[in-house]
Formats: sequence, structure tokens, C-alpha cells
Amino acid sequence: MEIYNINDVVPFTENKKVVFVTGVTGQDGSFMVDYLLKNTDYFIVGGARRLSIKNHENIRHLENNPRFKLVNFDLSDAHSISKIVEKLKPEYFINLAAQTFVGSSWDFPAQTWECNTTGIIHILEAIRQHKSTCRFYNAGSSEEYGNVVYSPQDENHPAKPRSPYGASKSAARQLVKVYRESYNLYAVQGLLFNHEGTRRGEEFVTRKITKGVARIKKSILEGKSFDTIELGNVKARRDWSDAEDFVDGIWKMLNQESPNEYVLSSNETHTIAEFVWHSFKAADIEGEWHGQAESAEFSITTKDAIKYEPRCSVLVKINPKFYRPAEVDLLLGDSTKARNELKWEPKTSFEQLVDKMVKNDLKQIGL
Ligand code: GDP
Repeated sequence: MEIYNINDVVPFTENKKVVFVTGVTGQDGSFMVDYLLKNTDYFIVGGARRLSIKNHENIRHLENNPRFKLVNFDLSDAHSISKIVEKLKPEYFINLAAQTFVGSSWDFPAQTWECNTTGIIHILEAIRQHKSTCRFYNAGSSEEYGNVVYSPQDENHPAKPRSPYGASKSAARQLVKVYRESYNLYAVQGLLFNHEGTRRGEEFVTRKITKGVARIKKSILEGKSFDTIELGNVKARRDWSDAEDFVDGIWKMLNQESPNEYVLSSNETHTIAEFVWHSFKAADIEGEWHGQAESAEFSITTKDAIKYEPRCSVLVKINPKFYRPAEVDLLLGDSTKARNELKWEPKTSFEQLVDKMVKNDLKQIGL
């Protein structure tokens, strides 16, 4: 898909009301664009970085959509962000671009801060100067809660981040609040617990698992041996929802009488080990966990193992290289406020989400 420079995209938006969405090649951005095209009449301009290797998988279906154009966008460049807001004068600016991977934030702490925190100043300043009525959403995260002090976590839970990523989002929240209060901007940062789906990147544990399950299922059906999936801490607990449910919550946050902070969550928590169990189950492979800590293993149940022997029965094992320098052990949201005030609620259950992701990966691998 063609990525335009801002000047070249302006003629397409003349006399149209525009929503600018960043991070559209990613999971949340692409689902947000789909949602807006379906549920509103706005012209959507998507922001994405122009890379030497195109990563347009998630937006390929928008190629010829007359209400969508892609523009070159980088969170680290204040000048171009300013120009985008000045030229497009969008009604809404939805920032779903970020350095999103917690694990990488220890390897690239400064880049994480540059994108996720300094980048937000660039956006807020651009809005303040060029279109102060533009409603701004910034992606916030339950990783800001980090080392939690109570459960479930609601909007009042203190920030106790455990990673450079969590710290960067936490600081961005304060900036959004300061601009909201200082300049009367409609600027909000949602508190979104983990949200996954068929467009999730493989660096996240959910997609790593569901892709691995599909690969193993194929090998089993073809009578071939397979590589075991290797994971880090499978005891960590997360509150997972469907990203497609969350974009509806984001849009609702942007369309209240006054701006406010909301948690979006399923209000359930599950371990990574449970996610593994459900994923294999969704592919009709029964397995069970044995052992503790680094020697924990998930293998095919005895009944099925007889069927698959002597090829391989260990499906998942632990590799400490995937442990993090500091871990968030438990996340469990309380989205009562969003459910009451926004009339929002998730539609997809945990089991349905796992099932959907596994079925999608089985399909992609030709099963
Ligand atoms: P996060 O909650 O935004 O950090 O989402 P992730 O999907 O990256 O990680 C969720 C949890 O899974 C964390 O507690 C990780 O430590 C844990 N985890 C265990 N094994 C892995 C792995 O192989 N990759 C990733 N990304 N996370 C893993």
C-alpha cells in the first residue's frame, strides 16, 4: 500500500472530517481503523513508519478503500507530527503507535521512552497549537500498575511500573493529564489490560503460543517430529480480552461529555500455563503440566501420547532466556467504571478468544 507524505494526502481529505490513527500496521491500530470505517462516516488517515520491508499485512484489505489513506508517521519526529495536525486538522487523534513490547523495553529503554513518552509531548503540543478541539486518545497499559498492591486493579490503583515500558506509559499518563488540565484539552489515556487477537504480533506470548500450537498440530497430522515451544515464566497471570472489543471502548472514551480515565478489562485472570492448556485443547490436543519452575513441561496426555509415540510428547518447556529482569506477576482488572459510564463490556470470553486465535493460526497454516 502506498504511504503518502502529508502534503500529498491533504487533497483527499478536503471538506472531510478526519480521524488520524497511528500504529495502523499493528493490531490495535488496524482494528481501530476497521471499527471507524464500519461505525462512523469519518475519513481515516492512518500513520505508519515507512520501513524498507513492508509490514502491511494487517491493513492490506484497506488498499482500495476510498475513505482510508496511509501517511508516513514517526513518533520521534516532532516536526512531522506538528505538520500532520496542522494540515489535517483532525477531529480525533488516536495514538496506538508505540514501542509496545515490554520485553524489548529493557534492551531499548531510551527508544521506548522516546516513542512512548517524549512522542506524546510532540502530539500534545501539536494539538494544542494547531487544533485544540481535536480529541486525543493515548494508549495506556495495565503494565503501569506493575507490582500491584491490591486486586482487582481499578482507575485509582497507584502506578508501580516494573519495566521501562511500564514507566514510559506511566509518565505519558501524567503528561496527558497535565495537558488536559492546563489547556482544557479533551485528552485521555485509557488503562487497557492485555488484549489479543488474530493480528497480535508473535513477540507476545499469546500469539507465540497459538502459532506454535498450529505448527505442532500440522506436524502431528503429518506424522513428523516437531520443535517444542519454549516459554519463560508461565506462572504470571494476565487479564486477557479481545482487542476488537477494546477499540469500541476506546471510541466510547473519546465521545463522552468530558474526558475521563477508564480501565478496560475482562475482570478475569489466567496464567500463561492455562493459556497453553486452552490453546492445545482448541486444536484437539490434550496435554498436562508436570514439574516445577525451570523443569516444568507441558506434554501430551498419556492416552494421546500412545497415539503419537515415539515421535514426541513434550509440547512446551521452559527456557529461562525468556524470563524478564523484573516480572509483573499478577494483573486483574476492574472495569466497572467503563461498564457503568461508557456502557461498554467485552463480548468475547477468554475461551472464545483462545479458540479464535488458534483456529486462525490453524487456517493460516492450511488446516
Ligand atoms: P505483557 O503483559 O504486555 O508483557 O505481554 P506479553 O505477552 O509479552 O507477556 C505476558 C506474560 O507472559 C509476561 O509475564 C511474560 O513474562 C510471560 N511470558 C512467558 N513466556 C514468554 C515468552 O516466551 N514470550 C513473552 N512475550 N512473554 C512470555
